[in-house]
Amino acid sequence: MTQEHIDGLLAKAVALARAVRIPVSQEICPQVQINRRARTRFGCCIRRDGRYTIELSAQLAEQGDERAVFQVLAHEVLHTCQGCANHGARWRGYAQRMNGAYGLDIRRADSFAALGVEDSRPVRYWVVCSRCGRRIPRMKRSPLVDHPERYRCACGGALLVEAGDQQGENGKE
Ligand SMILES: [Zn+2]
Ligand SMILES: [Zn+2]
Repeated sequence: MTQEHIDGLLAKAVALARAVRIPVSQEICPQVQINRRARTRFGCCIRRDGRYTIELSAQLAEQGDERAVFQVLAHEVLHTCQGCANHGARWRGYAQRMNGAYGLDIRRADSFAALGVEDSRPVRYWVVCSRCGRRIPRMKRSPLVDHPERYRCACGGALLVEAGDQQGENGKE
């Protein structure tokens, strides 16, 4: 998706929010910043000197479809409203208003699957079934990774954890 196209979607998100009387900031930079470092965040809203800059992950800009990009931009635009730096009640109320008015699905946390982009983060752990050999990739620690003995594969087999790709550990990005 071109920068122009993405900036157009930002302008549309701002206009649609205002159309349902959501008080988004007047001080939003019209150019979306493409972030090439972020792998886990799809968007970000940065406040500097009372002005806001919206960032979009390069992966989403490249792989995301228009709807996914638009929803992430709209999510970030809502953070420019007074009292909406977090995902508190006010932010959630505005998100619901946008979703209800336009059939969107703005959420607090988006997932790779929901946005239709590939999860390219390094696999740090493999959970392996000792019976059927099924291998489940995991990008971060979780109760399953920490305590595989508490779980079972769908086939009933016991699970083990193997180390995966060690790249992308904290501090490497
Ligand atoms: Zn957010
Ligand atoms: Zn199994």
